[in-house]
Amino acid sequence: MNDLSSTACVFCAIASGTGDASLVYEDPLLIGFLDINPVNEGHLLIAPKSHVQDLADLPPETLAAMATLAQRLAAGLRLSGLRCEGVNLFYADGEAAGQEVFHSHLHVIPRYDGDPFQITADWDSPPSRSTLDRHADLIREALYSRS
Ligand code: AMP
Repeated sequence: MNDLSSTACVFCAIASGTGDASLVYEDPLLIGFLDINPVNEGHLLIAPKSHVQDLADLPPETLAAMATLAQRLAAGLRLSGLRCEGVNLFYADGEAAGQEVFHSHLHVIPRYDGDPFQITADWDSPPSRSTLDRHADLIREALYSRS
């Protein structure tokens, strides 16, 4: 199951200082560290120190702090001397979205022209406006029905 307890969680271990990591940032709420298997050199992860698995359970102020730190780390990457001509922020929420470590985290990925990173999809067959509008209706309805 994906329901790792915080004692078994690799990012909890890093946050508590017992796990090995190359840290670039730490404050009482967050850690920023190098991904052990980087897409490109300098690929960073930002994680809350407290164990939260799902995006929906992340306190909004923690998510806001992660976004603010991502902006700062992206600027740092551009100045670092590592190859960084652009940056992708990537968040995998759930196994179907590619989440492999079930402790919330945000990827900050340095990009350059011709690098090996790819996100593939069938970008060439856009849906009709009526389909888009129907999807918008469904999502708006869900948004405003949330308590
Ligand atoms: P995902 O859950 O798919 O968003 O990605 C999890 C990421 O965590 C992957 O890119 C892994 O390479 C990375 N990762 C897994 N274990 C560690 C670790 N001990 N230290 C740093 N990065 C890790």
